[in-house]
Amino acid sequence: MAVIIDGKAVSLSCREKIKEEVAKMAAKGIVPGLAVVIVGDNPASRTYVNNKKKGCAEVGMYSEEYALPEETTQEELLELVEKLNNKEDIHGILVQLPLPKHIDDKAVIAAISPQKDVDAFHTENVGRIMIGEYKFLPCTPAGVMELLKAYNIDVAGKECVVIGRSNIVGKPMLMLLLQANGTVTICHSRTKDLKETTRRADILVAAIGKAKFVGADMVKEGAVVIDVGINRDENGKLCGDVDFEAVKDKASYITPVPGGVGPMTITMLLKNTLEACRDENK
Ligand code: NAD
Repeated sequence: MAVIIDGKAVSLSCREKIKEEVAKMAAKGIVPGLAVVIVGDNPASRTYVNNKKKGCAEVGMYSEEYALPEETTQEELLELVEKLNNKEDIHGILVQLPLPKHIDDKAVIAAISPQKDVDAFHTENVGRIMIGEYKFLPCTPAGVMELLKAYNIDVAGKECVVIGRSNIVGKPMLMLLLQANGTVTICHSRTKDLKETTRRADILVAAIGKAKFVGADMVKEGAVVIDVGINRDENGKLCGDVDFEAVKDKASYITPVPGGVGPMTITMLLKNTLEACRDENK
């Protein structure tokens, strides 16, 4: 039976450290501030935004929410981003995706000041990650790296396989594992012999978005299995991309869903906001 990686506990201990740092800054009269922008009323986005605000309050950060109606124009949203770029008490800006179809999310991300881009989606920050000279790391892959660190799982020299090549998870995950000296392979929907590749992995990261897609036959005995997926199973119950029950006896370490990678994502957002504030007040 694998060691179950406790994302809640790791997240809590990271948040304690962040809280201490925020308190030290507050004593000097500086409070890190995050602006969260949501357009329309997607229920999942609403939950994420509420959790982000709650996270800020927990660690003593300031947050502002801008809830805009579905019919907001791109120009109006860009104006708000510009206003937030220049707002002194705001150090991080997060525009919750997805945006309504009539808004070009690339244009919106490009408008966020790279210094306040705490999601690390701006091309400048993406480029920085490529060369290893980054200010911020994208929250979910950064959370995965923190989990590996917390459990003393050394990536150097390991065969790492990432399933999924999204800009938000798969691609930055590849870069972070590479920077930690892993030998990394990325798989996707067009990969041939997926199983052959995943069975080579010492560290397997699943970021696919398909409930219980990774079965025991895709996992090497003793592998570390990190499940980024958030899905609903046939009974409407939250589950990951990995068939946890089938894989847990084969893996050496495994993240559960919920309670694995998920809690780390917002924690990394708080960490980025703290860093942005520090940077601004150097
Ligand atoms: P995405 O839809 O952008 O990308 C999915 C990737 O999976 C694609 O690159 C695709 O090529 C690959 N894929 C699809 N079918 C495949 C197949 N049959 N074989 C191999 N690869 C296949 O998704 P995303 O934004 O990267 O998110 C992935 C999952 O992670 C989702 O479940 C999402 O909800 C979850 N997620 C969780 C967090 C978190 O905080 N835990 C954050 C972001 C995303």
